[in-house]
Amino acid sequence: MTPSQFRLDGKVALITGANRGIGLAIARLFGGVGARCLLTSRSETPALKELLASDPDRFAWVQADVTGQDAPARIVTAALERFGRLDVLVNNAGVADNGDFHDFTDAQLARIMDTNFTAPFRIAREAIRPMLDQGSGAIVNIGSISGYVANTPQLQVAYNSSKAAIHQMTTTMAFEYAGRGIRVNALAPGYVISDMTAGGIANADWNRVWTENTPMRRFAEPEEMATCALFLASDAASYVTGATLIADGGYTTH
Ligand code: NDP
Repeated sequence: MTPSQFRLDGKVALITGANRGIGLAIARLFGGVGARCLLTSRSETPALKELLASDPDRFAWVQADVTGQDAPARIVTAALERFGRLDVLVNNAGVADNGDFHDFTDAQLARIMDTNFTAPFRIAREAIRPMLDQGSGAIVNIGSISGYVANTPQLQVAYNSSKAAIHQMTTTMAFEYAGRGIRVNALAPGYVISDMTAGGIANADWNRVWTENTPMRRFAEPEEMATCALFLASDAASYVTGATLIADGGYTTH
């Protein structure tokens, strides 16, 4: 094992939801260890603009709603046209919603499943074609501890189901493509400080419960998820496929 196995020199990564939070941290890290990165999101944040301007040869951005019918083909084509190949896909874009199961509307359910499951499925299906042609690739799907447990105090059965589906998609895709040079893994974060959790962290009751349920007694920084994603995406994980790496400060230990 050499440190170079943790680098992504010469590789091209496609990262969804790369304008903020975990996706932005992944983009910064992957670019910092040598990857050229096609980033995508619906909106362009100041932080994303800054990253794009910092190294225009390394970072490119395509605006896309991942649930759009043409989004998978559009963003994969953009990566191939801009950088000539595709080695890594990080399916990171996601949304959460809370509420009682018996009150959850069809529209809420569709938004969660379309964004968190159907879009990653369709984007992976598009991205794997050039990977098959070149005989190599790595897919990292961002799952969640919510794919394993019922969160508390907030209720979020649709989100949790979408993340369990992503974990299973990961397992099954890994099996299907293990013999063709493509590794497929998932990352299951615990509570990470981002826009997604800002409301809960600001809520004294939720914050207390989340903290008490996390043995490390703190929430993660997005950068702590980016290093996990890098491991899974890099040659350092050359024998790892079908894994879901839980990075949760111990949340699921009890
Ligand atoms: P944020 O809310 O900070 O960011 C969400 C990202 O997803 C944004 O980049 C957003 O882009 C993008 N996104 C959402 N919907 C769409 C869409 N329809 N089309 C394109 N992009 C979209 O969340 P996090 O960074 O915290 O979450 C990233 C991933 O990590 C998600 O999959 C989430 O479920 C998962 N996760 C997060 C945890 C946490 O505690 N934060 C815990 C476990 C898992 P835009 O701004 O353009 O909408």
